[in-house]
Amino acid sequence: MARRQGVVGLTTIAHIDLAAFEHNVASIVSTSAPASVWVAIKSNAYGHGMLELADNALKAGATGFAVLDIPAALRLRSHGITSTVFAWLHGVDSDFESAVVHEIDLGVSSLEQLEAIASVRGVGRVHLKIDTGLHRNGVSESDWERVCRRAAELESAGEVSIVGIWSHLADAGTDADTDALSKFDAAIETARNVGVNPLMTHIAASSAALSTPNARRDVVRVGIAAYGISPLDDVDGRGLGLRPVLTLSGTVSDSSGDESIVASGWNDGVPLVIREGSWVAVNGAPARVRVVAPQFTVVEGAWAIGSRVDIVGGDGPTAEQWAAWSGTIGDEIVTRIPTHVRRVFVRN
Ligand SMILES: *Cc1c(COP(=O)(O)O)cnc(C)c1O
Repeated sequence: MARRQGVVGLTTIAHIDLAAFEHNVASIVSTSAPASVWVAIKSNAYGHGMLELADNALKAGATGFAVLDIPAALRLRSHGITSTVFAWLHGVDSDFESAVVHEIDLGVSSLEQLEAIASVRGVGRVHLKIDTGLHRNGVSESDWERVCRRAAELESAGEVSIVGIWSHLADAGTDADTDALSKFDAAIETARNVGVNPLMTHIAASSAALSTPNARRDVVRVGIAAYGISPLDDVDGRGLGLRPVLTLSGTVSDSSGDESIVASGWNDGVPLVIREGSWVAVNGAPARVRVVAPQFTVVEGAWAIGSRVDIVGGDGPTAEQWAAWSGTIGDEIVTRIPTHVRRVFVRN
């Protein structure tokens, strides 16, 4: 079956439901209270569109944002966001000068980063990160006291302001979480003993924010749940009262015999690995997936050309279902939808 040239790819659309996003953020805000909520909008808001969603997050009650790096934080500032923007992934050439000028809250994972922030003009807003077991970044337990002493010294000298102490809780099961929390508390105590008095502490991402009240502290940094996707294995987004924000849709471009071509392939964000039983919704009805090619997908059934196909979300399977079929997590399904796929912002 020849696939039609011309329509391929262009008909793939990521519909982003702003009402669903606001519903999710508001629900997380109410669950997490009195802790504040920063929405994690790294990776272009997990593929949804960072700048488009930022205002809606604030409208729904979030008080800040967590992005990966300084360039993303500065894009939010240029967009007019004046609330807290927290960035924690820095390299040797990170632009701390701009970050301090634009009052970006900076995660600090080493003495080198602390010194680099202190050395630029202005008072850097720092959040000292203790490694509580993930070993991704963060100050090790053995270096912690030394870094805290230096931070207190730099604060007294007016070079930095110690805004927070933080860490990242892995979704590694209750024992690991309990262990991480007690390491966190010990680190906070060590810091206070050497004169560090942070305004806030934070450690929870979505899973801990929703399932571990003791982890909420002053702020929770919530990503995936805000997009309506469950961070927990045993319950999906709907089960948590959340609504999926993204629907990836395509169009039937050809049909012959007992199968049809959908003009969207893995290059357009259709999950690549398919398992027995994976399906999409054509005009609302399930159609089994036979092949996912780079530019198109073959599904069972002779469907009318032009039929709407919900690939992820909408009438189709959830991101969690695709994640189970593909051996990954829901975050991956939405985040890897490429930027050439048009985002259309709707309110359902
Ligand atoms: C990604 C990330 C978050 C949000 O994680 P979710 O599980 O998506 O809620 C929070 N904090 C840090 C440091 C992160 O990297």
